[in-house]
Amino acid sequence: MSEQTQEPGRSAPRRVVVAGAGMAGVQTAAALREQGFTGTVTLIGAEPHQPYDRPPLSKAVLLGKAEDSALDVDFEELGIELRLGCEVLGLRPDDHELDTEAGPVPYDVLVIATGAEPVRLPGAEGVRGVHLLRTLDDAERLRPVLARQHDIVVVGAGWIGAEFATAAREAGCAVTVVEAAGRPLTEVLPAEVAAPMTAWYAEAGVALRTHARVERVEEGAVVLDDGTRLPAGAVVVGIGARPATAWLAGSGIGLGTRGEVVADHHLMTSLPDVYAVGDCASFPSGRYGERLLVHHWDNALRGPRTVAVNILGGPGHAPAVYDPVPYFWSEQFGRFVQYAGHHADADRTVWRGDPGEAAWSVCWLRESRLVALLAVGRPRDLAQGRRLIEAGTAMDADLLADPARPLKSATA
Ligand SMILES: Cc1cc2nc3c(=O)[nH]c(=O)nc-3n(C[C@H](O)[C@H](O)[C@H](O)COP(=O)(O)OP(=O)(O)OC[C@H]3O[C@@H](n4cnc5c(N)ncnc54)[C@H](O)[C@@H]3O)c2cc1C
Repeated sequence: MSEQTQEPGRSAPRRVVVAGAGMAGVQTAAALREQGFTGTVTLIGAEPHQPYDRPPLSKAVLLGKAEDSALDVDFEELGIELRLGCEVLGLRPDDHELDTEAGPVPYDVLVIATGAEPVRLPGAEGVRGVHLLRTLDDAERLRPVLARQHDIVVVGAGWIGAEFATAAREAGCAVTVVEAAGRPLTEVLPAEVAAPMTAWYAEAGVALRTHARVERVEEGAVVLDDGTRLPAGAVVVGIGARPATAWLAGSGIGLGTRGEVVADHHLMTSLPDVYAVGDCASFPSGRYGERLLVHHWDNALRGPRTVAVNILGGPGHAPAVYDPVPYFWSEQFGRFVQYAGHHADADRTVWRGDPGEAAWSVCWLRESRLVALLAVGRPRDLAQGRRLIEAGTAMDADLLADPARPLKSATA
């Protein structure tokens, strides 16, 4: 991260307001201070809890191995004003003001970091025993459910569904995962890569029912459209998340087809003095030639540094461009799965190792250059691959296919 301090006499903004106190919001506020911003920083979050990290919610927090996952940031020390339990209700850009539950809040610069909210299953709202897994409150509600060792039905075989199923099995529950598509992770991975993951469910003793559409959820059961009735002491819905941007209605801000705030390559929105970062915003990827909406932790960590540089920048400072190699990880069925890059435009796939084994990787190439990599239990492949993707290095596909050879020595 480049260190910058405000130059005397420059007309730097005095009041930065950040809407949303999740990872992206907290990192934005902290990065502003790290980079020498001396004006006021106000961080407004709807949840009442001290800001926390979400990945442990479907892992250690769910299993009671960690009480919470509060972020280790000393807000007082950093001079960041925290307003928790306060929902932001609207934005009036002409007045440079937010409307919140506690009244209007003026800003010189606004950063939108309201993240995402889980997609709800139609008809399941209000049915007893139906859960989502997005917040600390959700995880705390689910902990005793696991402890009671119910029969649990998970709707959706995505990342969250798989992680929750893993935890529920570890807690001794009987778990059925129902998935409308023909396999897990349909929207994110090609069939040949997701195929070996299908076997992980059975191995862990989880019943995976694909091509299974939920017709309705009743208290104590999930009914599928073929009439099958699955007993369910609890139902966990993990069918995706969408940007939490409803509060921006009427503000005139540019929104994309997925409901996200459309940011440019500096993470600026269509409105003056308004940035957007994290799960709520898409950005144009110069690297991959398309607009990306990334719902992963690393994006919420790194985007804020670009935002802070650009807020602090002024005359004579070239704005920072956000063009990351996306990265995420998932812990499921005893495996550590990591992914870097974006494989949509790849023209070749190279496997390293046998996907029937405990550890293997898949590399995606475009015109011989590494553009994406998925590693299962091979963190060294991931670390080296990430650097090779960043550098756009051309690879030798034959050398790459040898899992015994370090990835970094498989270059062309
Ligand atoms: C259970 C779970 C497990 C995950 N595991 C992984 C993982 O293993 N690896 C990985 O890479 N990623 C993982 N993720 C994704 C990662 O946690 C997110 O990408 C990251 O939290 C995004 O941060 P954010 O700050 O953009 O959004 P959020 O974390 O959603 O934070 C946004 C905050 O804004 C608040 N907010 C929303 N609307 C308003 C409003 N109108 N007014 C005020 N406040 C508002 C919300 O309450 C929330 O606290 C996981 C996510 C979940 C839910």
